[in-house]
Amino acid sequence: MNRIHHWIDGKVVESTSDRTSPVFNPASGEQSSDVGLASVAEVDAAVAAAKAAFPAWRGASLSKRAEVMFRLRELIDGNRKEIASLITAEHGKVLSDAMGEVARGLENIEFACGVPHLIKGGFSEQASTGVDVYSIRQPLGVVAGITPFNFPAMVPMWMFGNALACGNTFVLKPSEKDPSPSLFLADLLAQAGLPAGCFNVVQGDKVAVDRILEHPDIAAVSFVGSTPIARYIYETGTHNDKRVQALGGAKNHMLVLADADLDMAADAAIGAAYGSAGERCMAISVVLASEAIAEDLVSKIADRIPNVKVGPGNEPDSEMGPLVTAEHRDKVASYIEGAPGEGASVVVDGRPADNGGGFFINPTLIDNVKPGMACYDNEIFGPVLSVVRVHGYEDGVEMINANPFANGTAIFTRDGGAARQFQYDIQVGMVGINVPVPVPVSYYSFGGWKASLFGDTHMYGPEGINFYTRGKVVTSRWPDPATSKVDLGFPETR
Ligand code: NAD
Repeated sequence: MNRIHHWIDGKVVESTSDRTSPVFNPASGEQSSDVGLASVAEVDAAVAAAKAAFPAWRGASLSKRAEVMFRLRELIDGNRKEIASLITAEHGKVLSDAMGEVARGLENIEFACGVPHLIKGGFSEQASTGVDVYSIRQPLGVVAGITPFNFPAMVPMWMFGNALACGNTFVLKPSEKDPSPSLFLADLLAQAGLPAGCFNVVQGDKVAVDRILEHPDIAAVSFVGSTPIARYIYETGTHNDKRVQALGGAKNHMLVLADADLDMAADAAIGAAYGSAGERCMAISVVLASEAIAEDLVSKIADRIPNVKVGPGNEPDSEMGPLVTAEHRDKVASYIEGAPGEGASVVVDGRPADNGGGFFINPTLIDNVKPGMACYDNEIFGPVLSVVRVHGYEDGVEMINANPFANGTAIFTRDGGAARQFQYDIQVGMVGINVPVPVPVSYYSFGGWKASLFGDTHMYGPEGINFYTRGKVVTSRWPDPATSKVDLGFPETR
């Protein structure tokens, strides 16, 4: 069995733990490899390497750090297909979607190339007579990233580009379900000229995560994953005096007003609900259909479903691949199973009679869903789209704002005033206006509200730079020693 190892101090380090986790090809259902799950000692070795590398990396000039990012940018660009193939092999998403993941991750490395500009401070000459005041931003030290299965390359790139460019060193704990892309990226970072120890990958599970959360030499933790774990990471990490940003799960609603272009809305709903088999934290999982157009919209979505080509991710025709594991497939299927008993109508049931061993569920559409039903209240994270019928704008906004999750949302309308009001009223972190999956570009920041984010800082972009640095303000004067005298008064500026 192929074993997937760690990356510590600039090289692959074989796992010494006797604990392993299987990695599957989700399209066939066969186990392709296993991954060594780090022990406490292995995490400690990665943190020690990162700690040892920090002083020199922090001391490297801004141009030097930017140069490494520019080289990394070229290397990732030249290896898009290789990275995408690794994603498809272990995650299952179709190759075109995996290419999109790499492209959106790469944008974050491109953003990090601008670090000399991004961490400029401010300067105030003559804040008092002969006194200047200036602010600088300095790296934190060793920082850690804990990432989910659904974007095994992009989410690590959300984190490590900015963290490294700001002068930190990094320990990544990827998802044990698809651990290979992070090792590939580690190798590219080494090729880009990043000194050994600056970037480390420890494969693992809760044992590794808990060691990261309590390790005294780790200054900050970035997490992306489900809400219960995000809450745990935030509470434990901050209890241990770490800076923490923990992004959680989602239940993203798309409100379709009566004046919307229904064909465009139906096309958008199909892409946003079933792309990546719904395993996106920005997937649309609920359509709120205004009563006047609900019947039409449901039939337009249902008509489009048979055209979605479901198949192995590495086949060029496939538009939607399998789910990540058999366990996850069965969980998704249980929501479809339970929906009629709760009063919902399953318009299209995607549970296949025969999935050829792979972890497939086809696009599923459930109508007449209401809050309180299991398929509404839970994040399903699969290709299951629920339709809730609402009276109109007010009703839709109330429902979105009442939901505990608040990652993304979208409105479909031709009324600019309604869209403007939606942007003002809605209590959600990322909003699309006729855009169903509004993932911010890398020079803005990504993050939800409420149960979709624990911590104060959104991820990547300007807030990412703030997260990975801390501010210092220097007050300075160069007086003539001859004018020196004792003054016990509180310093005044006028
Ligand atoms: P997950 O929470 O199960 O796992 C995320 C990470 O936490 C993994 O590295 C995993 O090994 C670790 N982990 C799992 N259980 C743990 C435990 N008990 N103690 C400590 N660590 C643990 O999430 P997942 O299934 O890998 O990813 C899917 C989830 O991530 C969905 O809920 C999705 O909405 C969310 N997600 C959110 C965003 C966002 O930006 N808000 C982005 C992508 C995914």
